[in-house]
Amino acid sequence: MKNTQDTELLFDLSRPGRRAARLPACDVPERPLSELLPSTALAQTPPNLPELSEPQVVRHFVNLSTQNMSVDTHFYPLGSCTMKYNPKRNERAASLPGLADLHPYQPDSTLQGILQILYELQEMLQEISGLAACSLQPAAGAHGELAALLVASAYFRDLGQKRSIVLVPDNAHGTNPASATMAGFQTVSIKTTSAGFVDMAELTAHLSEQVAVLMITNPSTLGLFEPNMRQIADQVHAVGGLVYLDGANMNAILGITRPGDFGADMQHYNPHKTFSGPHGGGGPGAGPICVTERLAPYLPVPLVVRQNEQDLQKNGDSPPVYRLDFSRPKSIGQVRAFFGNVGVLLRAYAYLRTHGPEGLRRVAENAVLNANYLLSRVKTMLPVPQGDRCMHEFVASAAQLKAEKNISAMDIAKRLLDYGFHAPTVYFPLTVAEAIMIEPTESEGKQTLDAFAEVLSHILQEDPQLLHDAPHTTSISRPDEVRAARHPILSHPEE
Ligand SMILES: *Cc1c(COP(=O)(O)O)cnc(C)c1O
Repeated sequence: MKNTQDTELLFDLSRPGRRAARLPACDVPERPLSELLPSTALAQTPPNLPELSEPQVVRHFVNLSTQNMSVDTHFYPLGSCTMKYNPKRNERAASLPGLADLHPYQPDSTLQGILQILYELQEMLQEISGLAACSLQPAAGAHGELAALLVASAYFRDLGQKRSIVLVPDNAHGTNPASATMAGFQTVSIKTTSAGFVDMAELTAHLSEQVAVLMITNPSTLGLFEPNMRQIADQVHAVGGLVYLDGANMNAILGITRPGDFGADMQHYNPHKTFSGPHGGGGPGAGPICVTERLAPYLPVPLVVRQNEQDLQKNGDSPPVYRLDFSRPKSIGQVRAFFGNVGVLLRAYAYLRTHGPEGLRRVAENAVLNANYLLSRVKTMLPVPQGDRCMHEFVASAAQLKAEKNISAMDIAKRLLDYGFHAPTVYFPLTVAEAIMIEPTESEGKQTLDAFAEVLSHILQEDPQLLHDAPHTTSISRPDEVRAARHPILSHPEE
């Protein structure tokens, strides 16, 4: 009989009176809560909490955690997500008490260390982007997109220009059109060619003085560097529009080329992807944005600024050198409490400092090398429609297999779990039928890449029925993903 006790619902394990800790008898006079708290702060009935011993609680959560896959336990070739290994030194640095125990309401004069780190992080991100100014505030890549589009909106309002359109190539991440809509723009989709690039005739046809921003992911979600990038940017600029770079794929170009140099006016970073912050399970992330000089006044407040020498001398003895600048009249305001998801930013800082400029360039080179190595092995088994060469990721297609043997991308993804590999991203981008998007990242060695290729080859020879029913080794097999997301059962059914 399978022992399921340790993953049973805590509510089912609960027994009246069970406790994790017992307090000594009270040796001061007891007073009822109603004397100590206003009635509005008191519930009618106590909350329905499970009553458990400490080992029950610990086993429950530890056992649940081992049913998941993670970068620390498994290879995670999840395209578009850059699930690279998160070095433990970043964790140590970010949890130093001098950083982790600070409170954002402390006066700037007592926050000089962390403000210096954040200031230097702004500077490093600007340098990597080739853009002039940076805000660390947004809480995720998608939030960075929204904040930057609001910056663009404020900029055009200031110029007295009415521009309502945001152009987005059809292989973009779903957050791009969503952010554009939330920022009040109308999204217009631009077709890409069969080679996976922006269709220049389509672009020209859609350019007008109504266009505020072109959002482009370069390298794209197909793992391709846009060959007409400079020309695209020039054409958008020629009608007075701005170019937004979705920086989720910065891993492929760190230290090799800079968005500001190939025509971007704004970009976001996903430090939880590119700079090895932990991610998954919905966060936490961060989404710093960098912009050109002329867009800088509109960035969200606060920015971390360094006082110049003159101000320092005027202020007399040892004033704070770094401070939070809230007095930026053209700013779109705050988009996040305090100065952003600092824990994630500190990990990014530790990562950037560890690598330095040369190391960052090698990160990109090895990410591209690993992806091309795996591409060369995978394309002998599955067609890779745009697969001569790739950047940091590539997209294979199971469409032929589906037609011939009724094996889908989902079947392959699910069966990989049985062999201890996290599934690649599937069914994205939408422009490739039965897409399987693979991104190995630079943090894997050849042994792992070979093992993955061999398992994939083995799976493709297996009985299709075995694949349809996969995974066989996980605690649940194929949940209804939509229902699980839309109607999660989070409490005991009796409640
Ligand atoms: C991950 C990703 C995003 C969104 O970033 P989040 O940090 O998840 O909000 C946007 N665009 C692309 C191409 C991505 O891969």
